[in-house]
Amino acid sequence: MRTSLYLLLFLFSTLNLSAQKPLEYRISFPNAVHHEANVELLIPDVPAGPLTFRMSRSSPGRYATHEFGKNVYAVKAFNEQGSELPVIQVEGDVYRVDKHNGTVRISYTVFGNWVDGTYLAIDEIHAHLNMPAAFMWFPLLSGRPIQIKFNDLNKYGWKVATQLKPTELEDTFTAPDLNYFMDSPVELSDHHLISWTDKNTNNTEQLIRVSSHSVDNKEVVFGYAKMVERMVKESKAVFGELPRFDHGTYTFLQDVSKDNAGDGMEHRNSTVISDTQNKIAGNEEDLLGTFSHEFFHAWNVERIRPKTLEPFNFSHVNVSSELWFAEGFTQYYGDLILKRAGFLSNKQYHGVLSGIINGVLNNPGSADFSASQMSRRAVFVDAGVSVDRNNYANTFTSYYTYGAFIALGLDLRLRSEFKLTLDDFMQAVWKKHGKTEIPYSIPDLQNVLAALTNTGFAEDFFSRYVLGTEKNDYVKLLTHAGLELRKAEPGKASIGSLRLYVNPADGKSRVVSSTIKGTAAYEAGIDMGDYILKIGDDALNGNLDDILKKYKPGERIPVTFEHKGKVKTGTLNLRESNLLELLENEKANSEQIRFKNDWLSSKIK
Ligand SMILES: [Zn+2]
Repeated sequence: MRTSLYLLLFLFSTLNLSAQKPLEYRISFPNAVHHEANVELLIPDVPAGPLTFRMSRSSPGRYATHEFGKNVYAVKAFNEQGSELPVIQVEGDVYRVDKHNGTVRISYTVFGNWVDGTYLAIDEIHAHLNMPAAFMWFPLLSGRPIQIKFNDLNKYGWKVATQLKPTELEDTFTAPDLNYFMDSPVELSDHHLISWTDKNTNNTEQLIRVSSHSVDNKEVVFGYAKMVERMVKESKAVFGELPRFDHGTYTFLQDVSKDNAGDGMEHRNSTVISDTQNKIAGNEEDLLGTFSHEFFHAWNVERIRPKTLEPFNFSHVNVSSELWFAEGFTQYYGDLILKRAGFLSNKQYHGVLSGIINGVLNNPGSADFSASQMSRRAVFVDAGVSVDRNNYANTFTSYYTYGAFIALGLDLRLRSEFKLTLDDFMQAVWKKHGKTEIPYSIPDLQNVLAALTNTGFAEDFFSRYVLGTEKNDYVKLLTHAGLELRKAEPGKASIGSLRLYVNPADGKSRVVSSTIKGTAAYEAGIDMGDYILKIGDDALNGNLDDILKKYKPGERIPVTFEHKGKVKTGTLNLRESNLLELLENEKANSEQIRFKNDWLSSKIK
């Protein structure tokens, strides 16, 4: 549709008329030592009628619900003159003011003591803020700009690191609307900031920044940022260009402390990375994995965006069938980029790949459910917390691993059958859906693949391996690269992977993990919580491996176990350990070596 000049003029005048005053947010830290912050929201030009405001139940980059309202209290509302207005708590996390005269000031206290990419943490060393965990919002006013002022920075010696746009006002930043505000985490701390410029293909320069809050000195952070810079270049080489960042800046917000929860959370122009090491120095290579995964999201998920994640629902979760691509392909590239950039040895990378392959082929969930079905399970598993037990051990395969497994299969098939690469596919998806920011669905991805290869291949691949539960032949595919995928423990008898807890008082072995479908333990009727008393003629007391050494796969042996106080017997039909390993074939020919080099060598020009 072409827009007429008349319509443009009309839109322009309406925009001017409705140029709205920003919602003014302020956060102060009078009780940081006990993890509390005071938040004030000044809302001018409130439309007539009740004003509803609430905490979020979901957060950009997370796929399950989180009850952020639980850590908010002392919620109050005032009019312009400072008189208190009655606040009605409509739901646990939803509040309403019925009567006002156009300007409302809200205040509340928020508690946070959890450093990761989802929640918030406040203490005297920093305020680590994920916006949905800290700030209330107004469903009716989500299109209005938000201006936020951070108070008490001098008191604690903090600086601000964020993708929010700075203003001329002191310690004050803005976001054009609620969505951008919620997507913009903030670290207030005494951090080191290292930055460099990257020249993009169109000759524009953009600033890349690493903000590190850790005990390390500036030289250590500088050395680490050099490694990040190389990773950024290797990532850029996959797509041929960096995304165009809003305000020309991308920021890594890193927080390193052994008290943290390990996490990485992607955003449009930044990422939060919370590391659990005590410092950067000496741990550089371990820390890079989250950086490369999250940075790849600047293309894949932030701009190459599934339709199902838009518009983002802050009061519930979006269910998505595409996380095998959004997360899984990102997982595959996160490691591949580190390998290409020289930060992983051959042996380490073989370990990564065999982990992915074992994680799918030896996981019963992926036998019964497709990668797109697993993506929809994210609404329950993505840091979703519940108190009851679940059957994930038998029904769930991570869409990260499943997707990485599919990416590996597609990469090797494109290379061996079409003289193409997965990089070609990612670039084609980027051009069609990322650069244009036209959200995609699964058929769109299939169409991009069909345009590169042919309709038959794309349809076959998607129907069998993405929407279906079939698996490519990885033994054959890896042979192209001179790699041998084989049994890691040939001839070793197994009852299936189980976690046993041996009670030091009586030596009894209790099963403390779910038993897995298709294993001897599961089929013998052994359940989580049971005590395994005897295998064959041997009493079990922490010596499972030694007992199993006496037997061969295929043998059937009796087992005695205790289930809820009752002694039962069964038969263990021993299987061969199904663990796989990936090794370099010493006799690889030049063709295989060339194939592997094309795949794993640096693409930086
Ligand atoms: Zn991710």
